[in-house]
Amino acid sequence: MKKYNKLVRDRIPEIIEKDGHKAIYHTLSEKDYIQALDKKLLEEVKEYQADKSLEEMADVLEVLYAICNARGYAIEELEAKRIQKKVERGGFDKKLFLEYVEDSATDMVGNVSDIKALKKWSALPDDWKETLINNVFCRHCGVTTIVNYAIVDDKNGIVLQGKCAKCDGAVARFVEDMN
Ligand SMILES: [Zn+2]
Repeated sequence: MKKYNKLVRDRIPEIIEKDGHKAIYHTLSEKDYIQALDKKLLEEVKEYQADKSLEEMADVLEVLYAICNARGYAIEELEAKRIQKKVERGGFDKKLFLEYVEDSATDMVGNVSDIKALKKWSALPDDWKETLINNVFCRHCGVTTIVNYAIVDDKNGIVLQGKCAKCDGAVARFVEDMN
């Protein structure tokens, strides 16, 4: 007897029995199934790393497709997301290897929030803050979300200085004083 205790492809019991052996197996619960798939993905990636074969690439993809379905997505959604990301951020065709990013002057200014501005900001209602953060104008993307922002005081209010969540470009949002 050889123990496996692992998720296998649907036709494996049939193949074992054709070989004249008896396969003992059960069907996993949805929760255990997803866990087993996540583990399987790592296993298949390791196998691919070991032999780099087309066969192992296919196994990785099959497990990924199963994970996609198990987590409630259609394969078409996965494919659409892949294409969306490729259009927005490119693929890996150009063989680019990023070395480092130099801090720009705006980055350094942008990292400093001053106390007075922070006090004004924290006095705003949370839902208001959320609306402001998610309604920032980017000259490339239109309405966007500001990320990695610093809060800077201004004579008529405060300014959020940060980055566009979509394109990483510099964006800012002025918030006028309430009184
Ligand atoms: Zn943008």
